Amino acid sequence: MKINIKFESAKLKVLFATSEIAPLIKTGGLADVSSALPAALRAIGVDVRVLVPGYRQVIAQLPEQKVLATFDALADFPAARLLSGTAANGVPLLVLDCPGLYQRDGGPYQDAAGNDWADNALRFGLLSKVAAVLGSSESALDWHPDLVHCNDWQTGLTPAYLHFAHGSVPSILAIHNLAFQGVFPPATLGQLHLPLSCFGINGVEFYGSLSFLKAGLFYADHITTVSPNYAKEIQQEALGFGMQGLLAIRNNDLTGILNGIDTGEWNPATDKYLAKKYSSTRMTGKAINKTALQNLLGLNVASDVPLLGLISRFTHQKGLDLLLEIAPSLTELPAQLVMLGSGETKMQEAAQDMSHRYPGMIAAHIGFSEALSHRIEAGADMFIMPSRFEPCGLNQLYSQCYGTPPVVHATGGLVDSVVDCTAETLKDGTASGFTFSGMAAENLFAAIQRAVDLYRDQRNWKVLCKNCMVKDLGWESSAETYKAVYLKVLGR
Ligand code: ADP
Repeated sequence: MKINIKFESAKLKVLFATSEIAPLIKTGGLADVSSALPAALRAIGVDVRVLVPGYRQVIAQLPEQKVLATFDALADFPAARLLSGTAANGVPLLVLDCPGLYQRDGGPYQDAAGNDWADNALRFGLLSKVAAVLGSSESALDWHPDLVHCNDWQTGLTPAYLHFAHGSVPSILAIHNLAFQGVFPPATLGQLHLPLSCFGINGVEFYGSLSFLKAGLFYADHITTVSPNYAKEIQQEALGFGMQGLLAIRNNDLTGILNGIDTGEWNPATDKYLAKKYSSTRMTGKAINKTALQNLLGLNVASDVPLLGLISRFTHQKGLDLLLEIAPSLTELPAQLVMLGSGETKMQEAAQDMSHRYPGMIAAHIGFSEALSHRIEAGADMFIMPSRFEPCGLNQLYSQCYGTPPVVHATGGLVDSVVDCTAETLKDGTASGFTFSGMAAENLFAAIQRAVDLYRDQRNWKVLCKNCMVKDLGWESSAETYKAVYLKVLGR
């Protein structure tokens, strides 16, 4: 049974369930969104609290461990506790403490060798289940949300649990990346304490397996995704990853809302990682950051050679292979290149190999470094994002904010957030980067060539950089749209 509470003036209360939150634990954009969006919603009067697993890194950063609730008998799940915490930006945290499932060396989803944790179904089944308990009349907390905002497959089972629970509130499922679907063998269902009857096309079943994401897409009251263009793309076969049929059926319950950026974290005027802070009206500091970056990475210190930056997970999705294919030609333009990222071993090796072949011109840093990512955004002249698909993408937003025009493949949220630079768009002030269509190395090269040509015309280049920097990229308007979706789902 769904309960829509009718107090129009009561403060809207939302439980935001997520598997990562910056800066406590981050593998990608979801962590950034899970930190900034709740803060932006709180700023407009929504009482959001974030539920996150108590990974080792998260527990280590909790100053005290105040227990809010215990879960001793949630079916086959191990005993767990809910601890209270507060994020650095003031957002209240509900930390799900279950050491056997979450406190281990390695990442949130994979061990240090890059293999998925064998018990991921149980780990994120518990997270999903606890989110549903907190959104139902079973909850022992004094704070009762009006709605649960789930994120990606890791909390995809929450809408299913809510569907079968008593006194449950509505849920929305936000898709940050449809390619990750939380697919497990059908027998897993027994461990997860869901009725066998839900294992069907109208339920959690997906091509004979159990999919957490499919469960969420089917049972959530509303679905959001992180850009309007991606909301359209995922209803088509090419980028629907098998979910396009269900998404097309649910078209009226699907809203694309572009991500914003946390301007407290990403702002060249206040960024603690930079050699020199700068702004759209005082740009001189940007050149100092470029020299510092070239020094740091062992690149030739040359102010007039354009420096291209890339920060990414090294996976097929992100199109690094295209960039590596043209890297030798880039050095002849000449342009320099820095790549920061980690992921597939072959791509890591290929990036490193390229840096050894072109010392002084190409640098590769394998690993995850928040500090270096900020320094690249500031020190590079242009930012490269040749993603095959991109639900929203954040680095093209950060790079605009840092006056580092992005060169992007015209897909997903990149289409919604980058306006190709032409004579007209430069003149009317809308240009904010360079886009290319057709996922081929020569198309990427042509777009970079256009960027480098404009870079040589420094007067116009500065116009473009300034255009980028003055854009409003914050979360305010998107937070209002999320609030409107919540209210619509609640029938208010
Ligand atoms: P995705 O979530 O698909 O990885 P996004 O562009 O939405 O891609 O977000 C990626 C986020 O992760 C950005 O904040 C980016 O700067 C960060 N990031 C990715 N790889 C690294 C890395 N190796 N070091 C530091 N930050 C990284």
